[in-house]
This record gives sequence, C-alpha cells and structure tokens, in this order.
Amino acid sequence: MTGDPATRDDASAEIIDGKAVGEDIVASVRAQTEALRAASNVTPGLAVVLVGADPASQVYVRNKSVKAEACGFKSEQHTMPADMSEADLLDLVGRLNADPSIHGILVQLPLPDHIDETRVLRAIDPRKDVDGFHPINVGLLSTGALEEALVPCTPAGCHLLLKRRFGADLSGRNALVIGRSNIVGKPMAQLLLSESCTVTVAHSRTRDLPALCRSMDIVVAAVGRPEMVRGDWIGPGAVAIDVGINRIDAPEKGPGKARLVGDVCFDEAVGHAAAITPVPGGIGPMTIAMLMANTLTAACRAAGVDDPRF
Ligand code: NAD
Repeated sequence: MTGDPATRDDASAEIIDGKAVGEDIVASVRAQTEALRAASNVTPGLAVVLVGADPASQVYVRNKSVKAEACGFKSEQHTMPADMSEADLLDLVGRLNADPSIHGILVQLPLPDHIDETRVLRAIDPRKDVDGFHPINVGLLSTGALEEALVPCTPAGCHLLLKRRFGADLSGRNALVIGRSNIVGKPMAQLLLSESCTVTVAHSRTRDLPALCRSMDIVVAAVGRPEMVRGDWIGPGAVAIDVGINRIDAPEKGPGKARLVGDVCFDEAVGHAAAITPVPGGIGPMTIAMLMANTLTAACRAAGVDDPRF
C-alpha cells in the first residue's frame, strides 16, 4: 500500500504533524526573539559554515539560513572552498566564537576527508554549539542538566513531539530507541531517561527486535534502513517516532524517480500504532525548528535572561 500519509483515509493511528508543530515552534521563536530584542536589545545570531559544494549540504544550509531570517535572527552563511585547510576552518570557528553578535555556530557535516570533524566540533564554544555535539553539552545532557545544555536538534524535536502528544508526564513509560548514534540515538535515550521513562536502546546486535518492540509504549526509530520496523512490531496504543530519512526508487513516479521513506513501514504501522510521525513531514521539520529554538536559547543565556519556553 502506498499513499500520502496526510490524506489516507484507512489510517487508524493519529498522524503527528511535525510540519505544523515545527511551524508553531518557529512562530514562537520569532515572537520570543522580538521580546528579547525589546527587553535586552539582543538579536540572536546564527552562523552556518559550509565547506565544499555538496548539493545536499547546500540545500540544508540554505534552508537553515532562510529559517533563521524568518525568525528575525542575524543570519550568516560562510561558504568555504572544499580544499580549505583545517587550520583555516579552526581559525574561522575561533573568530565566530569571539564574535558577540553570533550566538549559534553550526558547521555542516560531513566535512571533507582532510579535516578532522571531531577537532572542529570541539573547537566550537559549547555555549554556541547549537547542534549540541560538543562533549560539554553531551555531558550536561547525560547528567540531566537540561537547563544548561544545548541538546541535539533531532532528538530535541522528538522529545517535544512526545511531550505534546502525552502532556507533561512521560514517566514510567516503556521507551525503545532503535539506533545508538551520538547524533540521535544516545541523546534521545538520555532525554527519555530524564523524563523517567524506562529506556531500552536497541542496535545492530540486538536480539529479537520485533518482540522487544511490541512491549513498548514509545518506539523511536533512528536506524537509516528503509521501512525496517514493520507494522506488527508496534504494539497497540504505542507511539512510533520515525527519525529515518531514506531515499528509495519510485518507478511508479517515473523512470529514475525516488521518494522518501522512514525506518518504520508507515503503511503497515498506521494500522497498529496509536500515533505515528510520517516521513516526510514528521521529524525533519522539527529538527530545523529546534535549531532555531537552540539559537534563541543560546542568545537568551548570553543576555542573562530566562530560557525561552516551547
Ligand atoms: P547512524 O548510521 O549513525 O546510526 C544508525 C544506528 O542504527 C546504529 O547505532 C546501528 O547500530 C543501528 N542499526 C543499524 N542496523 C540495525 C538493525 N538492523 N537493527 C537495529 N539497529 C540497527 O545513523 P543516524 O545518524 O543516527 O541516523 C539514523 C537515521 O535518521 C538516518 O536515516 C538519518 O538519515 C536519519 N536522520 C534524520 C534526521 C532528521 O532531521 N529527521 C536527523 C538525523 C538523522
């Protein structure tokens, strides 16, 4: 079965509209940015650094810059040649760290092979690390110091959607995170733990994943394998959050055409889950919205005012 998730009429699960929630967050960022400017004369500044001309990265970076402008931020894009040296990139990061008009620095990944990604990400001032990848932010998140941390955008978006779905209290729920990456799986597990969920992290060596999945209230899939999680893995009443973005051939759309699918087989899972995020239109738009939220948070902290609320 195929079809646009938003228009299917045989769906029993609630379709969680990440695009609408993402737009709501961006509107809130814009309003709270105005309030910050009025109260403290501070305009949040986001600098996005792109090294090279990878077409997908160019699109991501452009989208981030456009969204930052829509939020009323100062937005800078630094597009650097693919052969720039690591020393020059570190120098640029150092200048952005020292620039008081910049509150968020994002270095678009992947970087060219001759540049050490870890070294560059660790050079970013943790207070401006709006991707939340710096070990200081990882440590703050893992010790539950959420009021000090900057949390990676994708898991932060999943967290916010879950809070909106369940209300403030997620405690005691059984949550499974499939995937243990530093970018999604691990920080997602930390966020769910901080909500007092009972958290299980599954990965490529996990045994009998379908059975494990069926006992869960919440399943977050962040694997990168198209439609790996089948519908009957999702227990009745469970919420499925699909982080995966996978491009697969779509001959039905014409020769050479492709379409995006998640890590969860949406068409099957929609008949099992209580609620599910679609792909596209689920976690993707939430991720960019949370980047804006993180930039505003960093600006508020720099100005010495309370964190924004979402
Ligand atoms: P990754 O490749 O770093 O990690 C994948 C994880 O999946 C690994 O921990 C691995 O152990 C696990 N895994 C692999 N095969 C498995 C299997 N058969 N069973 C169980 N676990 C298995 O990927 P990532 O960066 O965490 O991204 C995961 C997916 O999320 C990708 O599709 C990526 O494109 C997508 N993603 C989306 C967004 C967004 O904005 N929506 C952001 C980041 C990543």
